[in-house]
Amino acid sequence: MIEYKEVYTYNDQPVTCPQCGNRTEILLDFYFLPEKTQVHKCLSKNCKTEFITQEDIE
Ligand SMILES: [Zn+2]
Repeated sequence: MIEYKEVYTYNDQPVTCPQCGNRTEILLDFYFLPEKTQVHKCLSKNCKTEFITQEDIE
């Protein structure tokens, strides 16, 4: 399991890359967790940033 330094929260908005704002694909989807953690990868060929999102449950 890769360790990620930052976790991004989201609500209902589509997830976009925090680096370049591009669309992403879901690499892993832990929908069974309460936080609905997802691992995303940026679809931009120049970026390819991987990052984690969790549902904002405040
Ligand atoms: Zn990107």
